[in-house]
Amino acid sequence: MTVAEQTEKQLTIALAGNPNAGKTSIFNHITGTRQKVGNWPGVTVEKKEGHVRKEGRDLRIVDLPGTYSLTPFSIEEIVARNYILDENPDVVVVIIDASNLERSLYLATQIRELDCRVVFALNMADVARTRGIKIDADKLAELLDLPVVFTVGNKNEGIDALLRKAIELAESDHTPHQQRKVKYNKDLEKAIAAVQKVVVADLGDELPYAARWTAIKLVEDDKIVKERLLEKPTELSRQAFEEAARQRQLLMERFDEEPEILTTDERYGFIAGIIKEVHMTAIQQRVDISRNIDLVLTNRFVGFPIFILFIWAMFQATFTFGEYPVAFIETLVGGLSSGVNSILPDSLFKDLILNGVIAGVGSVIVFLPNILILFFCIAIFEDTGYMSRSAFLMDKIMHLIGLHGKSFIPMLMGFGCTVPAIMATRTLESEKDRILTILITPFMSCSAKLPVYIVLAGTFFGARAGTVIFSIYILGIILSIVTGRLFRSTLLKGVDAPFVMELPPYRVPMVKSLLIHMWDRSRIFLKKMGKIILLGSIVIWALTAFPRHVNFSMDYDAEIQGAIQKYDAYRPVSGKEMQQGLEARRDQEVNSLKAHKAAERIEQSYIGRLGKWVTPVFEPIGIDWRGGVALLTGFVAKEIVVSTMGVLYAVDDEPDALERALASSTLTPLAAFSMMVFVLLYLPCLSTVAAIRRETGSYKWMTFSIVYTTSVAWVVSFIVYQGGRLLGYA
Ligand code: GDP
Ligand code: MG
Repeated sequence: MTVAEQTEKQLTIALAGNPNAGKTSIFNHITGTRQKVGNWPGVTVEKKEGHVRKEGRDLRIVDLPGTYSLTPFSIEEIVARNYILDENPDVVVVIIDASNLERSLYLATQIRELDCRVVFALNMADVARTRGIKIDADKLAELLDLPVVFTVGNKNEGIDALLRKAIELAESDHTPHQQRKVKYNKDLEKAIAAVQKVVVADLGDELPYAARWTAIKLVEDDKIVKERLLEKPTELSRQAFEEAARQRQLLMERFDEEPEILTTDERYGFIAGIIKEVHMTAIQQRVDISRNIDLVLTNRFVGFPIFILFIWAMFQATFTFGEYPVAFIETLVGGLSSGVNSILPDSLFKDLILNGVIAGVGSVIVFLPNILILFFCIAIFEDTGYMSRSAFLMDKIMHLIGLHGKSFIPMLMGFGCTVPAIMATRTLESEKDRILTILITPFMSCSAKLPVYIVLAGTFFGARAGTVIFSIYILGIILSIVTGRLFRSTLLKGVDAPFVMELPPYRVPMVKSLLIHMWDRSRIFLKKMGKIILLGSIVIWALTAFPRHVNFSMDYDAEIQGAIQKYDAYRPVSGKEMQQGLEARRDQEVNSLKAHKAAERIEQSYIGRLGKWVTPVFEPIGIDWRGGVALLTGFVAKEIVVSTMGVLYAVDDEPDALERALASSTLTPLAAFSMMVFVLLYLPCLSTVAAIRRETGSYKWMTFSIVYTTSVAWVVSFIVYQGGRLLGYA
């Protein structure tokens, strides 16, 4: 054949497949607008045909009706089968729903039996992927001896490759899949062979179809085939029918089943075998594995302790692994701070940069590693499928509140950030459920509160910090339960709607997706850092730095000068070693004077006055005026509590300054615990307040939430602090 002849030849490609497998999508991608729509002759089944030139060939593409099988029961099935049998398309592309391989393969198996050239398009490859179904296409191609191509019909992916394979196969002289036919059981095969023998002998060249297929159809008592054979009635076709009837009778006696049911079973057996081979992660197997894991993880007795253990481990990891990068960032911030200190001349501007911007943002950014780790752990829970198990586990507990397990997912997300958590309540059907969930979610300790706990617990509880922080989280959960119950029986009366919790199969998370999820949420943290925290730090700095004029209780500058001179006077008369000792004592004295000066100026600053003014509120819960001011500033964003404390307590710029300053302040461990409790519970940050207003659509609930959370915070802190003192804790 010359090239010219070859390009002249028209190839017919028929597209077959289950309804909704994506035939029309693929057909449209191939043919574009060049398609003809009509009916199949004699019936009202739509026929679509298109002519295109691709790869140097004239192609005629035919979209066959979508069917699940080729048993001649429906018009669509008959049309599709007759087309393949009578028109002999050069290639039949079987479009297979890769996410539903078993169902799709039934039709495909029947088409293969027609002895035409077949190419498999594993369509819906994207759906299969997201469902975790992996198909070994090479293995499938090898097992069935035909080309297999992955496609995504609605996105035009793989369709060129599919066409190339189809053309290649059409033009090759290889008739595929001759060997790999469905092998029926011994009795069926015997029946088929017997009928086939008569058919071949009787009809021979007159036979419209392949002999084996005709024999199978006669054993199945296929009406269409019988009619067809009767079109050219010979005396002999009667014998074939008689033999078929005899064999059918035998089979029915042996199996007590219609032979067509037997062949169907055998085909499904064949398909099951293929699926075992090519499904790299069989769905059933995944489901089984998941079920086994769930036997433990959602067990009535051990499920809950395991859940608590996971959450506890999450916070331990956050705290322990976070330590190293935190130290590193602290050093960086310290370095930056002393760099700026030596470059800029003393001025108000330098003060702003150093004590406002760097101190404020710096004291928060050091917690980035902790927050990254926390979000990473939450991403693991989500991506493995454990998150929905936790909802399942929590279902009973949630019923105590009058909510169901579904409400627990927003609450769990609240550990990361309350804003997306409140947005996640949208999935709840009932309005009352939603409002109730929104009201209790702020008690789930968000990641922004974590820096406050880390500083306070780290300073006052040392090695027990992780456990103390864990107890704070638990307290938040308990209070949300109490609140839920309270409101369910008063403000938001109603019954919880029944629901079905979906438990998707567990999957091994992909690192990339974990990192993306972690980063998506951490970005919000960094963005907040860039805007609100920077702004808040500057405002707080300004409140600290003004008024500029302060009446100090003594002339600190003169005292400092005096101290320096005093030690310098000894310098000439002392030896080297003694000199070093003297210098150290001098620096100590100077630093102490500087610290006292700074403390005095802060006390007289606007923020100091504000702090004094709110002291009566915070004193009963053990928090001094500095802590009180820090808490006030926390309304902007909870991280700012730390940066305000950084400004108010830390009087030098060394790393760890805040912890050291806190340790030597009037705060006691009990007071620190009380402060953590207050931070956990009191009014949500600005962004959360805005989210509450948006999601409840009312200022009423927003105001209610602010007042309620803050009152609860004060009362609980009061109980903790005064109760602790009564019990003899400091
Ligand atoms: P047909 O019944 O076989 O003709 O199927 P259609 O071509 O009409 O497709 C059925 C639906 O599946 C349509 O909504 C398509 O957009 C969609 N679809 C087709 N192929 C794919 C695919 O590979 N992936 C996904 N996700 N959707 C597909
Ligand atoms: Mg269609």
